[in-house]
Amino acid sequence: MTSPVADTSLQRRTPEELEAELREALEAEGHRFTAQRAAVYGVLGTSRSHPTADEIFTSVRETLPDISLATVYKALEAFVSSGVARKLTLGEGPARYDYRTEEHEHVRCVSCGRVADVDGVDLTACLEAAGRKTDFEVVEHRLELLGHCPRCRN
Ligand SMILES: [Zn+2]
Ligand SMILES: [Zn+2]
Repeated sequence: MTSPVADTSLQRRTPEELEAELREALEAEGHRFTAQRAAVYGVLGTSRSHPTADEIFTSVRETLPDISLATVYKALEAFVSSGVARKLTLGEGPARYDYRTEEHEHVRCVSCGRVADVDGVDLTACLEAAGRKTDFEVVEHRLELLGHCPRCRN
């Protein structure tokens, strides 16, 4: 279910350290740091499921009942433009958000829509070969694998 190579970079830092980093990243891009944004980031940063804005909203509301969906959307946009989160537009469903900002690939279940990280597989040689074959200077890539997740296969 979970990936073999667990990303623990967030877990290793204290909530105070995370907040300080978030504040710095937001303010560097001219965004405001607020307690609500910290709570939204807290939900995103502990989720490995690449949640949608709606899912994050549902979860944040447990601790901040007054927060609005619009506030969650604005927070997520601020995170993406500050480089502390990535927005994934996979398939036709709603955008999903990822706290992991380094390049990595995803698998998506065509039945339930679940998205997981592909970790521990080095695709560098494959991507380099694709660039050479097309004579493109590749600067970025998006790769999405589609299939049936373990839950849906059973
Ligand atoms: Zn599935
Ligand atoms: Zn991811």
